[in-house]
Amino acid sequence: MTTMPAVFFGHGSPMNALDSNRYTESWRAFGSEVTRPRAILVVSAHWYINASAVTAMARPKTIHDFYGFPDELFAVRYPAPGDPQLAEEIAELVQPTWIGIDVDSWGIDHGAWSVLVHAFPDADIPVVQLSVNATKPFDYHLDLGARLAPLRASGVLIVGSGNVVHNLQRIDPRRPDSAFDWAQRFDDAAAAVMTASPADAAKLDEHPDFVRAAPTPDHFIPLLYAAGLAAAAGQTADVLVDGYAMGSLSMASYTIGGQELEIDSRRGAPPLPDVPADETNI
Ligand code: ZN
Repeated sequence: MTTMPAVFFGHGSPMNALDSNRYTESWRAFGSEVTRPRAILVVSAHWYINASAVTAMARPKTIHDFYGFPDELFAVRYPAPGDPQLAEEIAELVQPTWIGIDVDSWGIDHGAWSVLVHAFPDADIPVVQLSVNATKPFDYHLDLGARLAPLRASGVLIVGSGNVVHNLQRIDPRRPDSAFDWAQRFDDAAAAVMTASPADAAKLDEHPDFVRAAPTPDHFIPLLYAAGLAAAAGQTADVLVDGYAMGSLSMASYTIGGQELEIDSRRGAPPLPDVPADETNI
């Protein structure tokens, strides 16, 4: 079986689920080029809880974990099956790190489905989610990512979904597709680490712009899983697409082990559409 690449998607606004832009096109190109996985494991910024847990329901529900968006977005469903057996396999694999088995609380949140509707629009590949444990230091997440590495060789596509820079307090609609200088500096620093020495990603919190780039770390941490997977395999990440939205969001996405994929998503750069001013929890 081919070893699967891994990927980090910068998901941005939930409206990307409905939009077509160069980011969603890059996600689509990735999904269409990659070998069909047996399952997809998503580490989403939006399952940020005080524990590590993996979803294990046969029919995970689509979760609309936001408000202030159009009805059309609440109507989106991503009816992929779950994979209870894979959940058990993951809990076993990462020992002695403890991961709980979630049979009824979570499902597929918009950090997952807003990208999966583009990358795997048929929703016919089983999806499980791994929570982001808010109580743990960055080293824990890097290490847990590395522990998941053997799954790549058994046909599991591991997806981190967040944003390298994510500061909702500083969103500026006058900058639909550009960034504040501090956002750009941190994004550049993260890119340098991911493409050269991903094992150092857990030290990005020492960067002088980190606190502004990630005032809460929920959207940054999924990147550490991609970094851990890369480090475990002795690989570095490649930029799938990069860019900014609304001044304080990085839209950068990375692939690990995806060099053979024929993706050219960096051509053309139509700006992202404006989003509602009262947007929250993206
Ligand atoms: Zn988000």
